[in-house]
Amino acid sequence: MAGKRDYYEILGVSKSATQEEIKKAYRKVAIQYHPDRNPDNKEAEDKFKEATEAYEVLSDPKKRAQYDQFGHEAFSGAAGFGGAGGFSGFGGGGINDIFEGFEDLFEGFFGGIGRRSSKSRKRRGSDLRYDMEINFEDAVFGKETKIEIPREETCSTCNGEGVKPGTKPDTCNTCGGSGQISRSQGFFSFSSTCHACKGSGSIIKNPCTACQGRGTVKKRRTLSIKIPPGVETGTKIKVQREGESGAYGGEQGDLYIVIHVRDHEFFERHDNNLYCEIPISFTQAALGTEILVPTLNGKKIKLKIPEGTQTNKIFRLKGNGIPFLNGYGQGDLHVKILVETPLDLTSKQKQLLEEFAKDRDEQVNPKPKSLYEKIKDSFN
Ligand SMILES: [Zn+2]
Ligand SMILES: [Zn+2]
Repeated sequence: MAGKRDYYEILGVSKSATQEEIKKAYRKVAIQYHPDRNPDNKEAEDKFKEATEAYEVLSDPKKRAQYDQFGHEAFSGAAGFGGAGGFSGFGGGGINDIFEGFEDLFEGFFGGIGRRSSKSRKRRGSDLRYDMEINFEDAVFGKETKIEIPREETCSTCNGEGVKPGTKPDTCNTCGGSGQISRSQGFFSFSSTCHACKGSGSIIKNPCTACQGRGTVKKRRTLSIKIPPGVETGTKIKVQREGESGAYGGEQGDLYIVIHVRDHEFFERHDNNLYCEIPISFTQAALGTEILVPTLNGKKIKLKIPEGTQTNKIFRLKGNGIPFLNGYGQGDLHVKILVETPLDLTSKQKQLLEEFAKDRDEQVNPKPKSLYEKIKDSFN
């Protein structure tokens, strides 16, 4: 909480300010810095949030008393600001969430800044999530596939209006069609959303029978989905306007495809690089050879193994990895060489190797040694 400005200072009021003075001061600051008037202005947004936080505390006599006594420390609980009721932190919540708490205070001032005051029952469709499991190769090269999803779609009987065809919604009697209920209190006039019509200003008396007035119906829909090359587990693909249909003319939500990639038996993947291990014999390692390395697209690539190659040596085949998602270029294929010791030597091969060892002055253990040899060895 270090470096936080004093709440009274933020609102520009004295410590003895009355509730009315605090309310007035907040209105002034909030109107000045409201995001609608300062689009894409981070500083204004911060000031707005700061003022709102100050007001949230100072307008509540209990919180104000705590603040007067302990300062910002009063609210530095585990969850940061707002432990005991009220807001649960300002970081994550959008401006709109903040604003709804004080809708009443601004109603009539901005002419509908309260967001819900627009006289409409329009409702945006929900976003949908679809978890898709795909093969390793498909993640690398991309693929086009079909999925079937259940979703709410605009009711064709009523065109999403929710009313029986040929009828119209009735004007709400409670609010007279404005969607708002107003009342005056001294200097201020307050208004709130009409509960009878939920702010839409109209009531459906004859709902569409196909959708029971909801404006949407459940449907199963088959969609063609393009998976771009280079996706990995956790990649989210946004398919715009393929979520649920909105109701009463509201816009359609989006569909998010979340990718899960199956493991490959031979290749491993880290970012855009591929990794594999290839065993070679110790004679190949010692004398050098040429091997064929399999790649994901089925082609085999020649790889020269120079003489004297050690086990765990890694060769990099440039550009044979995974293409970058939505970009140019490709990762590499890393081939790790594993030198294998033969397990199935014939007696002839053993004999050859014994000669080889002898020639290199290497001690091997082909036959049990005599006691004399063992003693001799220990003095060497
Ligand atoms: Zn309908
Ligand atoms: Zn109403």
